[in-house]
Parts: sequence; structure tokens; C-alpha cells
Amino acid sequence: MPYLSTRDARTPPERLAFEDVLLAGLAPDGGLYVPEAWPVLDAPALRALRGRSYAEIAAAVMAPFLGETLAPEALNNLAAAAYRGFDHAAVAPLKEIGPEFWLMELFHGPTLAFKDYALQLVGLLFDHVLAKRRRRVTVIGATSGDTGSAAIEACRDRPSLDMFILYPEGRVSEVQRRQMTTVASPNVHAIAVAGSFDDCQDLVKAMFADQPFRTAFNLTAVNSINWARIMAQLVYYVAAAVALGAPERPVSFAVPTGNFGNVYAAYAARRMGLPIAELVIGTNRNDILARFINTGRMTIERVEPSLSPSMDIQVSSNFERLLFELKHRDGAAVAGALAEFRRTGSLPASEAEWRAAQGLFAACRVDDDATRCSIADTWRETGELIDPHTAVAVAAAKAGRRRRDVPMVALACAHPAKFPEAVAAATGRRPELPGRLADLLQRPERRPKLANDLGAVEDYVRAHARPMGKGGTA
Ligand SMILES: *Cc1c(COP(=O)(O)O)cnc(C)c1O
Repeated sequence: MPYLSTRDARTPPERLAFEDVLLAGLAPDGGLYVPEAWPVLDAPALRALRGRSYAEIAAAVMAPFLGETLAPEALNNLAAAAYRGFDHAAVAPLKEIGPEFWLMELFHGPTLAFKDYALQLVGLLFDHVLAKRRRRVTVIGATSGDTGSAAIEACRDRPSLDMFILYPEGRVSEVQRRQMTTVASPNVHAIAVAGSFDDCQDLVKAMFADQPFRTAFNLTAVNSINWARIMAQLVYYVAAAVALGAPERPVSFAVPTGNFGNVYAAYAARRMGLPIAELVIGTNRNDILARFINTGRMTIERVEPSLSPSMDIQVSSNFERLLFELKHRDGAAVAGALAEFRRTGSLPASEAEWRAAQGLFAACRVDDDATRCSIADTWRETGELIDPHTAVAVAAAKAGRRRRDVPMVALACAHPAKFPEAVAAATGRRPELPGRLADLLQRPERRPKLANDLGAVEDYVRAHARPMGKGGTA
């Protein structure tokens, strides 16, 4: 499957292979990669997935996107390895919490949030492609909490990767910190920086801007816009729909949304042929996406902290992939619209584009009060403790759903024990960490601390990255 950049204005546009898209992440023109065409997931293909394991469904759904990257047998093995460590046999189990109303639990991976479902697989894919090309890379990133641990778990013990994650000292929760600092793998390093999250991000950017350093260590970023993450997230939509009766029955989903990656994966699954009736977007008070769907205007406002911090985002990078479709895959038009968005803070979208988006999605804003109510109601009505992000999805599903005859699946994107204060405040019950992490607070930590200083951070990388070796540097 060839891939295109959403901002490529040339005719014909440049077409890239999966492996290059995987390693590049972002296109050189600033665009995001999307497949040239949508593989078809028709009724016979869906029926063939019935009764198959999650890893088998993953291999079948991803195969057309991967092209020649992996032979079928190797792909089956890679998918099996990616999900082997998950602590539920179904990997992404469905739990009924009301009439035609389900939760899909996406917190059975190593860091208890849905990002594991993509990153565990992408870490293995990276390692595979780098080994094949006899390359090594150094992955660097900044985290305000959650993405860091999911990326660390995905890269630990991979021979082709060294990883350095910067986090702001004293500004992540103890559980978040320990999920990064207790990983006893020599190739991953979580570093506390005496500064803010923005300082950490600036240090990462400065390392990329230091050309000799960047080249010497083959720096690569961890980012949320890699196509491979979307591809891996398609899988749980397909698995859930098949389990609930697809292709004979349609299914609806409610997705808590920040960067638009997760809900865009649902859109992609629908484009491939998955019978999705309704797609409901849930946002917190940072509601730029809900405002766009409901009013046609996408205007940036300040990011405000909320109970669901992983969705405290105003500019949703993956929205660009939807815009590409709304503009009939016209890369020049996408580039122009985004330039204006950056300049004016307001996205120029035509009436037709807005109506098309409204036909695809419903959207609900769920503020902190409504989030607390959603946690409390769900606990009272079903005996389930849900985290604040899941609570946004549940509230959006209830408010936004029109078709009561179609099963509605709300995505449970994090384990409640990742956000114990919010859950305890709403229910009076403190959620416990699952067995695999029960001793997290007793595990030994490695806690290097550095000044907010580029030289200090680069020296640390020089001292701890494994030598690139023969054939290692590209
Ligand atoms: C990242 C994250 C989200 C937002 O997902 P997007 O793909 O950015 O829309 C929602 N909930 C949790 C728990 C997350 O970690």
C-alpha cells in the first residue's frame, strides 16, 4: 500500500512505502501520511474474523497496510508478541453496562491506557524494520505523564533502540513517575528535568536542531501522528464490531478525544467497510472539536486543565487527516487551510465541509461537573469504577446517541487506578492498581535528575546511548 502526505500539492503526489512512513513519522512538507486507498473489509472478510483471537484479527486487518514489510507468518508472530503481555485473554474485552450499551476496556496493557494497544505493536515494528536495514536509532521525547510510560514500555529491551524521555521534575504523579522510573531496562532512560513540560519539549526540539548531535545519534521522535499507530488502533473497532454481530449488525462507538487519533481510526475502519452506525466524539472543556461539529467553526482557545488531562488539547493534530478527506484529498487545499489556521487561529471550512463532518460524527462537550456525574452514575448504576476519560465517553454516548436499537460501545481508555483522586472524589471508592502493578510503589527507581540545560542533557545521552557501531549510523 503506497502512502501520501496530506499536504503534498504535486500532481501526481509522491508515494511512499509503509516502512519509510513508519520511520519518518511526519512528512517533510509538514503533512501526515495516509494510505493512497482504503483496503476493503467486506462482509465475507468480517465473517472470517469471527472466533479469531485479538492478535489474529490484528494481523488480518493490518496486512494490506503493511505490504511487503512482513511475510504473513512473521506478521502473525509480531501481533502475537505485541499482545502477549496483556492481562486479559480477550485483550480488549467488552463489558455490558446497560441495554445495548457496552464498555470496551482498553486498559489491559502494561501502562493501563489505550496507547499501549498501538505502541506495543509499533515498538516491535520499528525494531523489525531497523534490524532489517541494519540501523539503530535514539528515540527522544518529552512527556507530561502518560505517553512517556507507554513509549518506554514499547521500546524497552529492543536491540535497535535507545530511548530518553524527559519529564518535568515534581510535576507528574507518583504513579506516572514510577511507571517510567522502575523500568529496569538498560536501553530506556527517564530523566527528571528541573523545569516545566514546556522546558522539556524545548530541550527535545533543541536536540533535534543540533545537527551534529542529531546525526551522531540518529535521533527519532516519539509522536502521536505516526500512521502505524492509527493502523494498530483500527483493530479494536473491528474486533468489537465482529463480537457484537458485524457484518449482520451495525455498531456505534463513543470515543473520548484529544488529538483525534483514536476517533480517526474508527472513521478509517468505517471507510474500509466496518458497519459503524454512529460515531460520537466526547471532549472535555477543551471542546474545539465539539464546537466544530456543532457550529462549523473551529477556533483555537486557551488550553484549560481538566479532570481528563490526556484530552487537554486545542489543536488536534490528527484532524488534518480528516480534513484531507473533507477536501477530497487535495493536498494544496489542506496546506492552505492549515496555514490560515496557524495565522488566524480559525480554520476556514466551507458549509459543505462542515455538513459532511456532521454526517460522519456527533460530538458532545462533557465538562468536569458532568464528568464527575458520569463517574458517580456509572458506579451507582452498574458497579463499575471508570476513569475520567472513560466518563467523558460514557456521558457523550448517552447524550449523543440517536439509535437505541444499535449497540453502543463507549471506549474505556484508561484504568480507573490511573486517576484515583477523581474517581474517589466522585464515588467514595479508591480504585486499586491491578495485580501486575500492585507492587509499583515498592519497586526500586532510577531517577536521574538534570538541570534545564541542553549541554547537560546531551552529555547524559552521550554517556548512556549504546554506541551506534558498524552499519549503525545512517
Ligand atoms: C491519549 C488519550 C486520549 C485521547 O486520545 P486521542 O487519540 O489523542 O484522541 C483519551 N484518553 C486517554 C486515557 C488517553 O491517554
